[in-house]
Amino acid sequence: MNQPVLPAALLSALQAREPLLWVNPQRQDQLAHDSALVARIAEARDRLARADRLLRQLFGLPAHGPAITSPLLRLEDSASGPWFIKGDHALPVAGSIKARGGFHEVIAHAEALAISAGLIAAGDDLAALASPRARALFAGHSIVVGSTGNLGLSIGLCGAALGFKAVVHMSTDAKEWKKKRLRDHGAVVVEHGGDYGAAVAQGRAEAAADPAAHFVDDEHSVDLFCGYACAAYELQAQLQAAGVVISADNSLIVHLPCGVGGAPGGIAYGLHLVFGPDVFCYFAEPVESPCMLVQLASGSDEPVSVYDIGLTNRTELDGLAVATASPFVAPLMRARLAGIFTVSDIEAHSLLQDLHARTGIKIEPSAATALAGPDRVDRTGVHVSWATGGSLVPASEFAAFLAWGE
Ligand SMILES: *Cc1c(COP(=O)(O)O)cnc(C)c1O
Repeated sequence: MNQPVLPAALLSALQAREPLLWVNPQRQDQLAHDSALVARIAEARDRLARADRLLRQLFGLPAHGPAITSPLLRLEDSASGPWFIKGDHALPVAGSIKARGGFHEVIAHAEALAISAGLIAAGDDLAALASPRARALFAGHSIVVGSTGNLGLSIGLCGAALGFKAVVHMSTDAKEWKKKRLRDHGAVVVEHGGDYGAAVAQGRAEAAADPAAHFVDDEHSVDLFCGYACAAYELQAQLQAAGVVISADNSLIVHLPCGVGGAPGGIAYGLHLVFGPDVFCYFAEPVESPCMLVQLASGSDEPVSVYDIGLTNRTELDGLAVATASPFVAPLMRARLAGIFTVSDIEAHSLLQDLHARTGIKIEPSAATALAGPDRVDRTGVHVSWATGGSLVPASEFAAFLAWGE
């Protein structure tokens, strides 16, 4: 065991599984953005706009408004400011935040294949990716991913809908209903006894051996990251429409559940492009899996795992059950993130139950961690808790979450 160097008080609190807030001492107001990455985010926005008709057609979505968009709901106004929920639990088809990054990467890959085959030209509307010729092309290719559940659902459903062979390597945390839904839609599910990292490694190895396979690499993918980052512009427009002005005197404070870091990291990166020093992003992690916290607090560029400090990475917060943070995203968060708070399984279920009792909104336990933010973070401004998933959870499973929450 290669124990990372953490301040002694922090280390013992983490090892005691005490819910805590870590404030990032390295956050800076003035950030240098990577111009190549910023250009990729602009491309992703353009691509998703061109994929609107395609997604509507593939999934029979209503014919108005952008296909991948979620509501911003005002929950309450408190002494520390208004509190909103960003409702990605309600994103179509995938029922989670993974619709953003996942659909973007699958579509970007399909677009590249179709351009190489001469079926479309760069910049075209992407509705043509649903044509019989495109489907025949994609049938000769596979898309492979490793996941704790929701990324697999997003990639598998979008890949299969386009006609790809979709292969999803699921870790031991993955819920049965997610596997069934994928199989019902024509994806191949490979079950593993190991954790998220092991499922990803398996998928990567399998895809490397097959030239017709594309591996969606949750630990390194720029296309996933940029798809997530686009959500920042959506939030900006929704806050404007709600008459909320963000400024130095009225900060935006965003609470994002973190697994490997791709989804919250992409969104945080995008939010800093849009709001500059006026946004403060906090990640929420399980007390057993605070992988981004140990990575950033260690100050190390070497991968640090929660196993290295004696934690188990065993949690009911399945979307966040990740032992080692993305080595691509962690360095990008070093000067951006305001802090990270940890949440116990019990607190997450209780927050889930409370939100449901007040509003009827159905989110999954991983997503509920974001609701702890406004109380944990001592900061005045406009709070947004990012509800990252849950609308597709079967009723019987949801009833069990509520019962635990009570
Ligand atoms: C995947 C997921 C997250 C975190 O995203 P990462 O990219 O793994 O950090 C948060 N909430 C839910 C519900 C998820 O499925």
